[in-house]
Amino acid sequence: MNTLINNCNLVNLEKESCEKVSLIISDGKIEKIANSIKNNRTDIFTIDLKSKYVMPGLWDVHTHIGDLIPDPNNLLETETLPEYTIRAGRNAIDGLKKGITSLRIVGEDGDVCLAWKKIFKKKGFLGPNIYTARRAISATGGHGHGTLGSYEISGPYEMRKAVRENIAKGADLIKIMVSGGIMTENEGMQDSQLTDDEINAAVELSLNKGLIVSAHAWGTEGIKKALKCGVRSIEHGILDDECVDLMLEKKAFYVPTICQTQDLETILESGLPQFMVDKALSVKEVHLEGFKKAYKAGVKIACGSDSPPLSQFTHLELKHLKIAGMSTVDTLKSGTTIPAELCGVSNTFGKIEENYIADFIVLEDNPLNNLNTVFDPIMVFKNGIKFDEQYGLASFEDIYIN
Ligand SMILES: [Zn+2]
Repeated sequence: MNTLINNCNLVNLEKESCEKVSLIISDGKIEKIANSIKNNRTDIFTIDLKSKYVMPGLWDVHTHIGDLIPDPNNLLETETLPEYTIRAGRNAIDGLKKGITSLRIVGEDGDVCLAWKKIFKKKGFLGPNIYTARRAISATGGHGHGTLGSYEISGPYEMRKAVRENIAKGADLIKIMVSGGIMTENEGMQDSQLTDDEINAAVELSLNKGLIVSAHAWGTEGIKKALKCGVRSIEHGILDDECVDLMLEKKAFYVPTICQTQDLETILESGLPQFMVDKALSVKEVHLEGFKKAYKAGVKIACGSDSPPLSQFTHLELKHLKIAGMSTVDTLKSGTTIPAELCGVSNTFGKIEENYIADFIVLEDNPLNNLNTVFDPIMVFKNGIKFDEQYGLASFEDIYIN
C-alpha cells in the first residue's frame, strides 16, 4: 500500500527550519519528498495534513518494557510469565501510540523482548522497533541482581558465557552493570563492581559480533574504567571532567536518564522504597552538574527514560533534558537522530529523508518553538502505517496500577 501525504510542514532538525512538502510512502519507506506531488496513480491513498508539522518518530534508548514502577499490586512478584509478557507488549504499543517508534531495551527478563521484537517486525501487531540487550549482566550480588532476569557473573569466563548466550539468542547489544545504582539495596552508587578483565571480556566478544556494549555506571571510577575498556554508551553517569574528556576521546554516547534524579514529583510519589528515594535525591546535584559539563563539551546525549510506562516517561525525559539546559533542537535530536546513530542505523532511521523508514509523528505546532507539542502527537506513522486503531478500553494504569 502506497500513501501520498500532502501539505506537510516538514521539520528539519539539522537546518532548524520547516519546509512545505509532500511525501510518498511506499513499502514502509519514504520514497519521495517533493514540493508538491499530484496523485495520478490509483494505487495511492492520499492524506492531507493541512500544514501540520511532521518530524521523525521518537526513540527511548534506555528502557525495560516489562518493568513496573510503581507496582502497588506487587505484580512483578506475582504475575505469571504470560501475564508479564502481555503487560510488556502493552507498554510498548502504548509507547508507539504516543509517538515512540523505536526502543533500545537494556535488560529484560526471559525472551519477552525478543518475542515482541519479532511480532512487531512481522507487523503481527503495530509496535515500535526493538533493539534489545536481552538479559543484562551483573556482578554476583551486584547491581540489578535478581531483577529483570539479569545474569550474575564472577570472572571473565562467566562473563563470556553470558555474552555468548545473549548473542546466540539474538541480542542486538550487550548491557553490563559496572557500578552500583539506585534500585539495589546495600550498595553505593559510586561502587565499582565489574573488573577490567570482566568488562574487557564483554567488549571483545561483542565487537567480534559487531555489537556495542552499554554500561550502567553511576560511579565516576566505573565510568572511566568502562570507557577505557571500549564501552560505547554510558547509562546514568555522574560525570567529572575526566569522564567528559574520555567520552569525547572515545566518541561514546551518554544516556543520562536525567528524569530519574531530577523529577522530584515522580521520585517522591513513585511508591519506591525509601532507600531508593534517598539514593536518587542524594545525587540530584552532581548528576545535573555532570550532565551540563557533558552537554557543553559536545558529548552525544540520547534520550532514555528507564521507567515504565513509556507513554509517559519518554516525554518526561525529553522535558527534563530541556530543563537541564539543552536547547530545544538538541533535545529533539537526543530523541531522534542521536539514538539512531547510537544503534548504528542512522542511514535508515531518525530522519525524514528519501529511502528512510517512514516512522514519523504529526504535530499541531512547530516543535522547534514548542517542545510540548511533541508530547501530544495528532498522528503517528510506523513503517508508513498510520497508528489510529482503537485498542482496549482500559488504560495501562487502570489494568496494572490503579
Ligand atoms: Zn535501566
